Amino acid sequence: MLPYSLDAPRRLVVHRYGVRGARPKAYLHASLHADEVPAMLVLHHLVRLLDEAERAGRIKGEIIVVPVANPIGVAQVINARQVGRYELAGGGNFNRNWPDLFMGLADRVNDRLTDDPARNVAVVRAAMAEDLAAREAGSELASLRLALARLAVDADIVLDCHCDSESLLHLFLIPAHWPVASDLSAEIGSRATLISEDSGGQAFDETFSTPWTRLARAFPHKPIPAACLAATIEYRGQADVGDEWAEPDAHALFRFLARRGLVTGDPGPPPQPQCEATRLDACDVIRAPVAGLIAYKEPLGATVTAGTVIAEIVDPTADDPRVARTPIRTSTGGLLLSRRADKLVRPGDSLAKVVGTKPLPNRQGYLLED
Ligand SMILES: [Zn+2]
Repeated sequence: MLPYSLDAPRRLVVHRYGVRGARPKAYLHASLHADEVPAMLVLHHLVRLLDEAERAGRIKGEIIVVPVANPIGVAQVINARQVGRYELAGGGNFNRNWPDLFMGLADRVNDRLTDDPARNVAVVRAAMAEDLAAREAGSELASLRLALARLAVDADIVLDCHCDSESLLHLFLIPAHWPVASDLSAEIGSRATLISEDSGGQAFDETFSTPWTRLARAFPHKPIPAACLAATIEYRGQADVGDEWAEPDAHALFRFLARRGLVTGDPGPPPQPQCEATRLDACDVIRAPVAGLIAYKEPLGATVTAGTVIAEIVDPTADDPRVARTPIRTSTGGLLLSRRADKLVRPGDSLAKVVGTKPLPNRQGYLLED
């Protein structure tokens, strides 16, 4: 239960499997952006599979599933439309500015690190859990963040399940987890696996993955593994909600958990990967230069070359046909990964993502959308 709301205290539903403290531990949640509901249906199906596995005594380690991670956002219905990407009280994007667990971490573990990597993992996990235990939430949003972070902080695997606007399935990772997470990428059928050391937004997944790599850099002579594989999965587009996608997606997650030793049983041979990993700073995020209606010229999944007109922005009020349409071109070649569902756009709105292979000069610093 989250405090700070007088009218309707909100609750988080948490499904727990296996023995608390057992290893490996996996934490999965859905729809931190509350308007990205395909992920909720995926975890709904995963919970059924895990319930069955538990009855059969097949759970090893510990698994935590939160199928609705953002009850604050779920309550946001505006003009009869579910929103929930930003906190209305002024807290901003729900998947930005998560607590920095690296802050002060080096000082807290300095005297306790050894030459034993397993021992170091235990020391660092305990220090991060102590950090979160000592924090106090000063708002409803902060209490939600703390509740989720405390569930995830000591996990070996953290999967933050979202979706894009109109999109193919894709995955975000840090470089330390490639190619070790190539099994995840292949199993979920990722069409683009986008790698960055620091996306610049303090997103949920990086909260748990990057303290390890930053700590390893701070202590180059101590063995500190990248002990939390944290990733963001984008389950296609907002309208792609259906059992025909979600049920196979849940089976894929279940097989991944089996491959990683959290569930017993044979997951079968690994599927063929559908992409190579590419750098996030090579993924072009194309933005609208003018306001208008977007008319796409290329479908999702198209392979485009640099300079391709993927869309035109139409000004329906313009008299002169020469100025009524503004062509939108790609600056890199590659896979057209995502498009925008809302077709009335303003300057600065993101219109598409194209997965290139060469870092782009305009993609530095903050690499996320908004
Ligand atoms: Zn999202």
